[in-house]
Amino acid sequence: MKKGIHPEMKDCVVTCACGETFTVKSVKSEMPVEVCSKCHPFYSGKQSRASRAGRVDKFNKKYGFSSKETAE
Ligand SMILES: [Zn+2]
Repeated sequence: MKKGIHPEMKDCVVTCACGETFTVKSVKSEMPVEVCSKCHPFYSGKQSRASRAGRVDKFNKKYGFSSKETAE
């Protein structure tokens, strides 16, 4: 490994919206994610995405909707 050209690798704690956490190697020290292998429907075998946080809220915030308006 040549010195000075590689980014620092460190333990990165990945935190999922479902509460699952695990550690990987990354240049970041933490990484929040919205879906992981524990809660993704493909791996969990469930179709429910109710626990998946963030995406709809993010959209609504970005375009100035409240979640109540879009729920109807
Ligand atoms: Zn998850």
